[in-house]
Order: sequence, then structure tokens, then C-alpha cells
Amino acid sequence: MISHKDRIRYSRQIMLPQMGEAAQEKLASARVMVVGLGGLGCPAALYLASAGIGELHLVDGDTLALSNLQRQILYKSNHIHKPKALVAAQQLGAVNPHIRILPYVKKASEAWLSEHASRVDLVLDCTDNQRIRQSINRVCREMAVPVIMASVQGFSGQLVSFDFRRKGSPCYTCFFPDTEQERVDNCETSGVIGPALGIVGSAQSLEAIKLLAGLPLGSLDTLQVFEAETLDWRRLSLGKERCAGCAEPMAIAR
Ligand SMILES: [Zn+2]
Repeated sequence: MISHKDRIRYSRQIMLPQMGEAAQEKLASARVMVVGLGGLGCPAALYLASAGIGELHLVDGDTLALSNLQRQILYKSNHIHKPKALVAAQQLGAVNPHIRILPYVKKASEAWLSEHASRVDLVLDCTDNQRIRQSINRVCREMAVPVIMASVQGFSGQLVSFDFRRKGSPCYTCFFPDTEQERVDNCETSGVIGPALGIVGSAQSLEAIKLLAGLPLGSLDTLQVFEAETLDWRRLSLGKERCAGCAEPMAIAR
């Protein structure tokens, strides 16, 4: 049952015909993990907290640096040197004190993810690290937890979702093979325009809310590419190729 206060707090989304009270209750009972509390994780987590996601698991091992403030909108200048996960939890708790927020000051290793992914209904990959992205993909696939992944470099962003609750779902590795040569190119080395992270991170939270509410996604098995220079979104349907992990599901240890 939704309380009177929550009915007011969430009134603008409850009144939507696509949402209603039933969807709000789904959001309230949902547990979502946000891995990476940088330029994507900040707007994504803000919208999820505001929307009334019942439980947010916030994962980031970094402390805030001066150069983060150009794009990481949860933080203020007085938070420099403080752990992002703790500051984010505090800021989001101020936005919405009625949800549970669990901060983890932790770099998400594959072992850690394997232990924790089963405690959530959805994972948002907001990292800027290809290796962690592949780990998140493997763990979510094995645990049948849906994942929404995003990245932005320069003026260009990407968004893609996989619902591993469905049998036969493709995965990130099907389209972006996990190779040794893969460059770990992130915004520390290549630069990034702040609002593009805001747009793509917000789109990530939008897809999360839709998935939890049972609405169709625009990024399911589909790579959405955002170009900040022209404001174009392009959709690339992913082909039929499957990685070894998806081609031989029996090979995955359960
Ligand atoms: Zn795959």
C-alpha cells in the first residue's frame, strides 16, 4: 500500500497511464545496484532515488577529486577527498529519506559482484572501465539479473540493456568481445563533455524505471548511440552473433 505522503511525492508519475499505483509499488519493492558513481552514476542514481526505488546499492571505491566536479553532479566542492559512495548516499538520502540506501566504498571486482548481484533486481553499469563492464556482464548473465550499461567518451555516448531473466538473451560480450587488446580508454585519458553524461545517465535511469515498471525498453538488445554534437540518437540492432558464454549456456557453472 502506498502511503498518503508517497502518493503526493510520486503523484506526477503515478498519474501517468503507463505507470499508476501498481508501477509505483513495483519501484518501491525494487532493489537496484549502481556500479560507478561518476558522470553517469550521479544523474542515474538521483532519478532512481527521486522516483522511489526501494533499495539502492551504491558501489564506488573512489574519493572525489577536483576534476570530477565538472560533470559529477551529486557532489559539491566541500566533498573533495571524501568517498563518493558515502557522499552520494548522504545526498540521495536528503532527496528521498524514505528509501534504503546501501553505500559500498569498493571497486567492484568480479568476486565481489558475484556475492552481491543476487541481492538486487537490476544492475546499472555506470563505470568507465571495460574490464569491470565485462565482469558485470558475466556475473549478471550467470545470475539472471538484468543490466543496463552506458558509457560516454568525448561527445559520444552509448546505452544498451540486456534482460538476462529471458532465456536466450544475448549479452555485452556477444557484441563487444572480451579481448586482451581492448583499450582501457576512459575520460581520464580522452576527455568528456559533462551534459552528454547527464543525458545518457538520465536515459539509463529512464530504462531502469521502465524495466522495473514492466514497460518496454528502447535499448533492449539494441545499442543506442548518442552524438552530443548533433543531438542525434542512432539505434543499432545487434546481430545474431553469440559469444562462447551465450552459445553454450550449459557450460556456465551454476
Ligand atoms: Zn554473450
